[in-house]
Amino acid sequence: MMDHQETLELLPAFADQELGIVEAQEVQRHLDSCADCQREYAAQRIVSARFKKEAVYFDAPPHLAHRISSALPPEPVRAGSRRFSWMSLGGALAAGLALVWSLGLYLNLPSDQERLTDEVVASHVRSLQVDHLSDVVSSDQHTVKPWFNGKLDFSPPVVDLAPQGFPLVGGRLDYLAGRPVAALVYRRAKHPINLYIWPSNERDAAPQLQNHQGYHLVRWTWDGMNYWTVSDLAANELDNFVGLVRSTVRQ
Ligand SMILES: [Zn+2]
Repeated sequence: MMDHQETLELLPAFADQELGIVEAQEVQRHLDSCADCQREYAAQRIVSARFKKEAVYFDAPPHLAHRISSALPPEPVRAGSRRFSWMSLGGALAAGLALVWSLGLYLNLPSDQERLTDEVVASHVRSLQVDHLSDVVSSDQHTVKPWFNGKLDFSPPVVDLAPQGFPLVGGRLDYLAGRPVAALVYRRAKHPINLYIWPSNERDAAPQLQNHQGYHLVRWTWDGMNYWTVSDLAANELDNFVGLVRSTVRQ
């Protein structure tokens, strides 16, 4: 006598009349006495009929889809779980990136310029704290400019502004925006001024003044170079310094 589970598994073939006579009789015998299998058989015949009529496309009823998936041999546990974890890891990463991206838009996280502003101020403060304003100490632009030779892949313009009240103190290598930059050091009375210079792909841009953590910063772009200067000088004095640098560099 065929049991319930065996009959269920054979019902699709039975509905499609694909069973041998002996098996078909056994299925029929169980079917006569089992209401569950009768319902399943009725569903199978509907599916079977629709499948024949619509040739390829048909909507599997939910219970059939479930039966198909549960009838499939189980995948090896390790392979299955590994694929599942990679898939869920990929999904989690994608979801995380989407979240970070949308949070960035929402919270207005720092732009490149804002990050650079932080870096410039941090560099300025560090140069004062460790008393390491200059690697080359000279008020002579013709000493400071050649000092950068071989240390940078560009030659920064170095101007002396001593006659205008901003004597050159020296220069050093620094690191901003992920690259080595030239740092020129000037003074106005007792106020040190750092002037950072590095190559730029950007178009010329007029000076922009900003206030950050009690320091004044002015940045501009000219002739393929970025200029950032920072000091605790008053804004109008730093602006004066910038005007002198710009007019002297252009000469
Ligand atoms: Zn049954």
